[in-house]
Amino acid sequence: MKAIFDERQWRHDPQHFMANGTISPNPEQPRRIEVLHAAAQAAGCRFQPPQDAGRGPIAAVHTAEYLTFLETIHPRWRRIDGAGPEVIPNIHPGNRSDSYPRSAVGQAGYHQADTACPIAEGTWEAAYWSAQSALTGADLIADGGERAAYVLSRPPGHHAFADMAGGFCFLNNSAIAAQRLADRGLRPAILDVDVHHGNGTQGIFYDSDTVLTLSIHADPERFYPFFWGHAQERGTGRGLGSNLNLPLPRGTGDDAYLQTLDLALQRVRSFGTDVLVVALGLDASIDDPFQGLAITQGGFARIGAAMAATGLPVLFVQEGGYLSETLGTNLTRTLTGFKEGA
Ligand code: ZN
Repeated sequence: MKAIFDERQWRHDPQHFMANGTISPNPEQPRRIEVLHAAAQAAGCRFQPPQDAGRGPIAAVHTAEYLTFLETIHPRWRRIDGAGPEVIPNIHPGNRSDSYPRSAVGQAGYHQADTACPIAEGTWEAAYWSAQSALTGADLIADGGERAAYVLSRPPGHHAFADMAGGFCFLNNSAIAAQRLADRGLRPAILDVDVHHGNGTQGIFYDSDTVLTLSIHADPERFYPFFWGHAQERGTGRGLGSNLNLPLPRGTGDDAYLQTLDLALQRVRSFGTDVLVVALGLDASIDDPFQGLAITQGGFARIGAAMAATGLPVLFVQEGGYLSETLGTNLTRTLTGFKEGA
């Protein structure tokens, strides 16, 4: 299987993280790259760098205002007297108004949903190349040569909305790839298996029926991202019925998970999907520090095999999954399960 990664994705090295009122090291560490890269190679992946498809296909998903913000906010922030090294908002609008703030502090609050997406000097460059990696993966599939490809997109993307970062995410790599596939005449579904609901992806396609969005995740009643990911969120307008959320109780294990995955794949078929984008979070692992669900290494192999059984071309786009003893193995098992099931 071909795999895509760009060395510039190392340049995002977030420091700040706060959970439950406590400041701790940010779990989205660059070292994840090393682990995931080796794990993909262990599954037989051959890495190549992405092409540069330019800003256009990113702007097809994200607003121009937001892209300008991401690209320029760090040097502006550093000009504030006494500013810290990372852009972290200390004020958020309760509701967006018609007015767009001019100040760096105001814009940070406007475009950053939470404090888990600090922006430092290399963030834009890393996020840009993470998105380009996803675009090259989409093109490999759309060109017809590949049954599957793996994108080591990091920083991840599925919590990023059209104009808002959040939860370690800046550019929505899975959404950008799916939009690219749709623009090339295909009918994609994004199946998000990250332990956290793919709220940004849902938001981007919520009123559209060109991309089916599905997410299996720990119940947001008591889990990030709290405000999205509930079963009753089905889309709106033309998108009504094109969004399927399948929240699971905390601690759900392999068998119940695989049954839910079957439901999701039935919907994928009935949508007329001809290409599957898997938003591949590995943090549903029983060993993940977030402790949302309890998927074993064998469970990940079964998830990979279930994807293969669809017979569809599959683009795996890396989302979450944090440092633990089995992070790498879980990726290897997913991709190997896919290969053996294909
Ligand atoms: Zn996650």
